Amino acid sequence: MNNRQIINLTQRYVANTYARFPVALVWGKGARVWDADGKEYIDFVAGIAVNSLGHNHPAVARAIRQQAAKLLHVSNLYHIAPQSELARELCRRSFAQKVFFCNSGAEANEAAIKLARRYGAEWLGGKYEVLSTHNSFHGRTLATLTATGQEKVRAGYDPLPAGFRQVPYNDLRAMEEAIDEKTTAAVLVEPIQGEGGVVVPDKGYLQGLRELCDQREILLIFDEVQSGMGRTGKLFAYEHFGVEPDIMTLAKALGGGLPLGAMLAKEKVARSFVPGAHASTFGGNPLTCSVGLAVLKTLVQGGALKNCVKMGRVLFDGLQALKQRFRFIREVRGKGLLLGMELEQDGGKIVEDCLKAGLLINCAAHKVLRFIPPLIIGKKEIGQGLAILEKVLARQ
Ligand SMILES: *Cc1c(COP(=O)(O)O)cnc(C)c1O
Repeated sequence: MNNRQIINLTQRYVANTYARFPVALVWGKGARVWDADGKEYIDFVAGIAVNSLGHNHPAVARAIRQQAAKLLHVSNLYHIAPQSELARELCRRSFAQKVFFCNSGAEANEAAIKLARRYGAEWLGGKYEVLSTHNSFHGRTLATLTATGQEKVRAGYDPLPAGFRQVPYNDLRAMEEAIDEKTTAAVLVEPIQGEGGVVVPDKGYLQGLRELCDQREILLIFDEVQSGMGRTGKLFAYEHFGVEPDIMTLAKALGGGLPLGAMLAKEKVARSFVPGAHASTFGGNPLTCSVGLAVLKTLVQGGALKNCVKMGRVLFDGLQALKQRFRFIREVRGKGLLLGMELEQDGGKIVEDCLKAGLLINCAAHKVLRFIPPLIIGKKEIGQGLAILEKVLARQ
């Protein structure tokens, strides 16, 4: 099938929830993908920060093959070796002592919210409320879209569940004033906002939130669904800020392209989950966790994380150079390979023109071009991507 035929099928049979670009991607290798008409693209989207090891990575393909030849799925009625091993590796490398596995970012946040409520019921005299921030993104389930600070995500879904409020991001004072002595159980934030337009908070913000939560004896939850697993040049973005949460959520890159999410927690909080309190049929299954282990190993021992730091600088410098040249670029920001370029105007047209010219990028919060290539990307692909972007920008 060519692009046109695939597009026709989608339009006829697939629910109309996505505004898609008019191409079907069918093959990939490293930081390059090809569409059904054979056209090649440099991939600065990476499945929205999912394909950290790029496409067709041998370690991922091997883990899938090997595990598929053994056992794809068993129920959590039984112990699952790759799940326990992945949990151990995540705990060893983070603040956490316990992990709950699921299949997506929304589910990971759903688990975090449920754990915060159980902890609140057990230890905080029945507090339940979760405070989050404007322009945040936490997922599309009813609870997580209610925690999400964007009207467009919530429109049409009333009545929304109770127990959520938002305050401006990077505003410590607003959070302090919003914490309700009687109801607030947790603060939920992204250490760096992704969908909100790659927003890096001031250094004191996350530290301030930590102190605030300690003083009020409530929980601090970091949503690292996008920023985690090496994306920012550290395994977890919170490491940049010297602040640890009580609960953290992961997904996107965790499964190397397979659907895998996780909620990590400190022991004293995780204890509020007891048998029957929460569950997921597919969560932590042998296949996804085997791949998760291979991904983590490749990041830490295989050099992908180091490459992210190096290539992050190369891409940042390249984008910064474009900013010098084009006056309509307001700012270049981000960490590692989670980078954004804020424009004076809407970036939709630039994204479309880049696609036509062979570069995949996307736009967050209307005016911010987002650059989230695979962490294994090389200088050559970055150079090619920047050259395309420069040509497109020059035509605006
Ligand atoms: C993508 C994302 C989610 C939602 O993940 P899904 O897997 O789509 O449910 C939640 N939080 C953040 C920060 C994200 O970037």
